[in-house]
Amino acid sequence: MLSRRGFLPILAAGASRAGASVSRTPRRPNIVMLYADDLGYGDLGCYGHPTIRTPNLDRLAARGMRFTNWYSAASVCTPSRAALLTGRYPVRTGLNHVLSPGSAAGLPASEITLPQLLRGAGYSTSMVGKWHLGDRPQFLPCQRGFDTSFAIPYSNDMTSSPVPGVQSSVAYPPLPLLRNDKSIETNPDQTFLTQRFTAEAVRTIRSAGRRPFFLYFAHTAPHVPLYAGPQFRGRSARGAYGDVVEEMDWSVGEVMHALEDAGHLHDTLVVFSSDNGPWLAQRQQGGSAGLLRSGKTSVYEGGMREPCIAWCPGLIPSRSVNSSVCSMLDLLPTFAALAGAALPASLVLDGQDIAPVLAGAAGPERELFYWNDAELRGLRRGPWKLRVNPGFSPGGGTPGLGAPELYNLDEDPSEEYDLAADRPVLAQDLLARMSAHAASVTPR
Ligand code: MG
Repeated sequence: MLSRRGFLPILAAGASRAGASVSRTPRRPNIVMLYADDLGYGDLGCYGHPTIRTPNLDRLAARGMRFTNWYSAASVCTPSRAALLTGRYPVRTGLNHVLSPGSAAGLPASEITLPQLLRGAGYSTSMVGKWHLGDRPQFLPCQRGFDTSFAIPYSNDMTSSPVPGVQSSVAYPPLPLLRNDKSIETNPDQTFLTQRFTAEAVRTIRSAGRRPFFLYFAHTAPHVPLYAGPQFRGRSARGAYGDVVEEMDWSVGEVMHALEDAGHLHDTLVVFSSDNGPWLAQRQQGGSAGLLRSGKTSVYEGGMREPCIAWCPGLIPSRSVNSSVCSMLDLLPTFAALAGAALPASLVLDGQDIAPVLAGAAGPERELFYWNDAELRGLRRGPWKLRVNPGFSPGGGTPGLGAPELYNLDEDPSEEYDLAADRPVLAQDLLARMSAHAASVTPR
């Protein structure tokens, strides 16, 4: 079952030459969204990791576009996924924090989802991997726009199965494995999850037929606990975390092989990213944000800036590195535009169509906001970032909570040098912009 083929060329010779001008955008491309769980900005070979081997993702980046200023809309799982599938800041959807098993909350029925839009435009829609947008029946994938699903409903550590080396103070129910929203197993052997999810993704691609398809493959890896398959365990110099990332990279290769075998190399857009930054509290079991500060749960860059690779021959120029400020929020309007899916006029979106950016254009000037657990905690505008502490009100500040911090992310990507005292007028201007944004948003 586990293929160990060598790395075939992703593209036929001459299909896309390095630096070649882009001439023909595939009409209504298939869309494959690959989403890692807790992968850090610094955890891939093409993002500078010295020991984790990711040849398939490195190749995808070399044949497509690698982003260096790509943001999640949240620093933890549930709100990040909600933002991806709605194009809206989590504060608007009410999914501001991580959901636990049995939670009464979930992605509200009033929210229009990406798979709903694409299905309405004639796409078949499939979801594989980790859901985490509500585990009550009305919130599961097939109720929220997917034709099929093969998934666990929340994170892989929320299980009654003993986790090696982890003492949990929470008594979780058995972890279900769902097919089309119905439980078919409990506490599946996680050693084989990536392999099983990959086989499902491959089957989905091969059986797609003539309709365009949308495949959302949200990996359970490399979220702790780490379970690498037998053929990857003990292989990475980075240890158990590296084993899991390298298996995920193998999975990317299998997906690309399936696209090639099914004749879809020239009419498919593939995007790879991560829901949030590395879980640093797990020490060596967690990942790395590289030169970025902090990780998961934080609004410093390491929590919310993610690796992102996009590949689509005919649309995306090969060997491109793009430093435009872009967001997971942009994927819904972008995919909708490429698919010819109409957006309801009443829909308030926080993302924008970045198809021109994918084609090589510079990104537009924009303001991107850092929300964390229903609090507005920061703003990026150009190279500048303003960050405030929890509890700080952008409208007037709160004594004892510290002053806003100001960073120039182009010059200081690690957020080491607070310039607020040197640039008080700029800091005040950004604070006023944050205040205006906060006043414009109606929290759910
Ligand atoms: Mg996560």
